[in-house]
Amino acid sequence: MLSWRRDVEYIFGIVGIPVTEIAIAAQQLGIKYIGMRNEQAACYAASAIGYLTGRPGVCLVVSGPGLIHALGGMANANVNCWPLLLIGGSSERNQETMGAFQEFPQVEACRLYTKFSARPSSIEAIPFVIEKAVRTSIYGRPGACYVDIPADFVNLQVNVNSIKYMECCMSPPVSMAETSAVRMAASVIRNAKQPLLIIGKGAAYAHAEENIKKLVEQYKLPFLPTPMGKGVVPDNHPNCVGAARSRALQFADVIVLFGARLNWILHFGLPPRYQPDVKFIQVDICAEELGNNVKPAVTLLGDISAVSKQLLEELDKTAWEYPPESKWWKTLREKMKSNEAASKELASKKSLPMNYYTVFYHVQEQLPRDCFVVSEGANTMDIGRTVLQNYLPRHRLDAGTFRTMGVGLGFAIAAAMVAKDRSPGQRVICVEGDSAFGFSGMEVETICRYNLPIILLVVNNNGIYQGFDMNTWKETSKFRDPTAVVPPMCLLPNSHYEQIMTAFGGKGYFVETPEELQKSLRQSLADTTKPSLINIMIEPQATRKAQDFHWLTRSNM
Ligand code: ADP
Ligand code: MG
Repeated sequence: MLSWRRDVEYIFGIVGIPVTEIAIAAQQLGIKYIGMRNEQAACYAASAIGYLTGRPGVCLVVSGPGLIHALGGMANANVNCWPLLLIGGSSERNQETMGAFQEFPQVEACRLYTKFSARPSSIEAIPFVIEKAVRTSIYGRPGACYVDIPADFVNLQVNVNSIKYMECCMSPPVSMAETSAVRMAASVIRNAKQPLLIIGKGAAYAHAEENIKKLVEQYKLPFLPTPMGKGVVPDNHPNCVGAARSRALQFADVIVLFGARLNWILHFGLPPRYQPDVKFIQVDICAEELGNNVKPAVTLLGDISAVSKQLLEELDKTAWEYPPESKWWKTLREKMKSNEAASKELASKKSLPMNYYTVFYHVQEQLPRDCFVVSEGANTMDIGRTVLQNYLPRHRLDAGTFRTMGVGLGFAIAAAMVAKDRSPGQRVICVEGDSAFGFSGMEVETICRYNLPIILLVVNNNGIYQGFDMNTWKETSKFRDPTAVVPPMCLLPNSHYEQIMTAFGGKGYFVETPEELQKSLRQSLADTTKPSLINIMIEPQATRKAQDFHWLTRSNM
């Protein structure tokens, strides 16, 4: 247990039989225990700690149903390649297969969601298994791990001297790419006519910001962040071509991938979203990832921070830079300008209810530069991402690779804990669709209980994707038999979500106009004593602006 104090800072969970004593013992050791309202949200919070700090956050759950509720969080962490340690209480060993209280094959159940899932064979073996789980979660490609603690272990006495005391693992060893591959990559980059760097959340996790920024600036290369790659190099950097994303992907002839998989988010690296002969240079810590969906021109297996330094050193050997006045840069800049103008025009619309762009432009105007931005929802997340800027790495958390809805409040709570402990005064802005908010809405009580510096924005269109306004709702209700169907996408119009916040002592605002939005945001930012929730009513049928590719409307980007 002693090593835990040093290596585990936060445990998120819900107590009950048989883990209550574990939470109390952890608190006695000085570990921060944050009691949540649902294991799913607790597990999301713990996984965000892993991404933000590079050490696994712990989620502590009870047996059976508690463990099952946490599976969503585990799957999300594992799909995102984030470290996580789930500790589950389980039924007593001598009652196994007898129909014990909350009995479930937990180790087996977790195998599908983890890199490692095990039960210590004895109480003396616990430190050994925990060390292995922590190490496995952060070494190689990060991921989730599970350790099962049977109820009859919890109150067992053990002689400390009988435990072969295990120090927790060292930081992950740093691996570098083959020199010949680095040389080849540099040569492909130098010969590129239309180069593009793609910065993924793997680069953020690897703390590669300094080296990647140097690559961008020294060689004048255009870059495109993925959703959580935003902020590794600031969004307002002149070389960021986020506003010309489709164009950049479609016409690049050389693409360097820094910790971004060629999955659905990047349209699998295939035509028509890319040139058929585009040369991919893949940088990743996971060898099995290299070559997925495309045949890469060069693969650089290693830690992104180390490999980007190798690339810098190699490129430094000649006096090369990508010509800033190239036709490629001109094409990208023109496209960025026209896309930005289209968004601005939508944002300037005075009609009420507001559209997404109007809302996000007003939010962006007041957003503190160092805040965490947490976001989820369909249009809320997709449009919000194009307007809300990130200036710092690892300061955006969203539905991620798994596109999980319900992560927002858990993520916000984790970010707020980190902010509180590491840079007091820093705020967390959590931008939720009304549907997304519903998944974990009761965590507002957690936010108020710990008085966390979170401002929740619920962008409310009365539904999933789209909803009805009050009049249409009433009109259609008139004809509806009380037992007949409610349209699946509809939520109750004009729901006062802000009252969930006031119920627990936070500040709540219901806003319908840009002026009300500006004012409530100003007040929320000025008030550092309380969390707040701003319920922002928007046009229920609002959507995003027209896209070049029609299938973009349902994708993440
Ligand atoms: P995004 O969603 O931003 O595109 P992905 O989650 O698809 O990002 O990709 C992240 C990639 O980063 C994963 O393939 C993972 O193996 C890799 N990765 C994680 N940490 C490191 C690291 N330290 N060095 C290199 N690659 C890493
Ligand atoms: Mg909605």
